[in-house]
Amino acid sequence: DTPDQYRPLTPETLGARLASIDAVAKRVGSDPALWTVREVGDGNLNLVFIVEGPEGAVVVKQALPYVRLVGDSWPLPLYRAFFENHALVRQAERDPGSVPAVYHFDDTQALIVMEFLAPHKILRRKLIDGDKVAGLGNFLGKFCARTAFRGSELSMKSADKKKDVGLFSGNIEIPAITEALVFTDPYYDAEMNHHTDGLDAVVANLRSDARLKAKVQRHLMKFASNTETMVHGDLHSGSIMSTDTESRVIDPEFVQYGPMGFDIGMLLANFFMAYFSQPAHRAKDELDDYQEWLLSVVREVVEIFEEEFTRLWQTERTGMLYPEALFEGQGHNSADACAGLLAETWKEALGFCGIEMHRRTLSLAHNADFEEIEDKGLKAALEARNLHMGAELILNAETCGSLDELLLLARQVN
Ligand code: ADP
Ligand code: MG
Ligand code: MG
Ligand code: MG
Repeated sequence: DTPDQYRPLTPETLGARLASIDAVAKRVGSDPALWTVREVGDGNLNLVFIVEGPEGAVVVKQALPYVRLVGDSWPLPLYRAFFENHALVRQAERDPGSVPAVYHFDDTQALIVMEFLAPHKILRRKLIDGDKVAGLGNFLGKFCARTAFRGSELSMKSADKKKDVGLFSGNIEIPAITEALVFTDPYYDAEMNHHTDGLDAVVANLRSDARLKAKVQRHLMKFASNTETMVHGDLHSGSIMSTDTESRVIDPEFVQYGPMGFDIGMLLANFFMAYFSQPAHRAKDELDDYQEWLLSVVREVVEIFEEEFTRLWQTERTGMLYPEALFEGQGHNSADACAGLLAETWKEALGFCGIEMHRRTLSLAHNADFEEIEDKGLKAALEARNLHMGAELILNAETCGSLDELLLLARQVN
């Protein structure tokens, strides 16, 4: 072994290997004998260590050369750490304070040393447990709006945007996971699929709908070839950490330039899945209140997204697109142009939302909201609601219309 060869860390080797890194020693303490190291990765892909010492704590995230969930039979490039690092840096610029600060990045070791979020918990856990998070919709709406706007040519210079699209276009295998698991596998008998007993008829019905599959493929085409803005790429409730009053976004290794509606669509799907799974997690006397809170978060995400995007349109439209010379400079208001773009983005987001609702119950990587339900009959019934609403969104995204109609649909299907 040469010192600069990639080697996965273990809790036993981490101290000796990272003590010489200033960014770590400064924050944790210079004597690794006094550190405690825990591996806490609960995700599907990477190693995550919490390193605590007399001076403080950091998180060390290291990529593995394969998919952790599946094992070394499914190799996956280490370079995803490189893209995650670049994504975190851009998200911190575009929405300051929204992501953990990066303290150190090592390309060869595929590792990122970052801010330890405490006492934050994974949002998905909090939603299953029935915890409310103050300011959640406001935070997520702003995160989606700021990263969407500031990562696009509405804000960026053309040359900078093209350079960045070029950089992130090197992230191939990771988005390919999304292309297969999210957009394709749910709609045929793919090898890694599984679904709950009792859903066979619902699933067969989805797969027999050529119109639905064509709509999903149209969304995949946009996902793969439209580079409107830098998307997080994996913005589900397991990629958000919250206290009762504060939230952050983590884990952007699925970053790519993609459609503006992708992140917000995927995010809303995860709130709807939390919503539909609630009857299995809450007693009757708390159920209505918590489900209504979840829908209020959806409402706030969407309203704040549109409000913040519009504010940035009015105050930061410095890129190549929709130049003031064409609008304000000739005495026109550009508010209609902004509203038109948002309306298109909304429809696109509804389609992505429906697709994410399908993949989380049909292909690999299901979500705990449903997986933790022990009564399989109840689980199938709640998942069927989720699949049904997903199909409605995919088929009728163009006509579904307003936020009120979306929330009404969720209540009707529930
Ligand atoms: P993966 O890419 O494997 O999904 P994540 O980045 O989602 O890895 O991290 C896995 C888990 O590690 C998270 O669910 C969370 O519990 C924990 N974690 C990750 N980053 C941090 C952080 N900055 N602070 C505290 N815990 C973290
Ligand atoms: Mg993760
Ligand atoms: Mg994961
Ligand atoms: Mg990840």
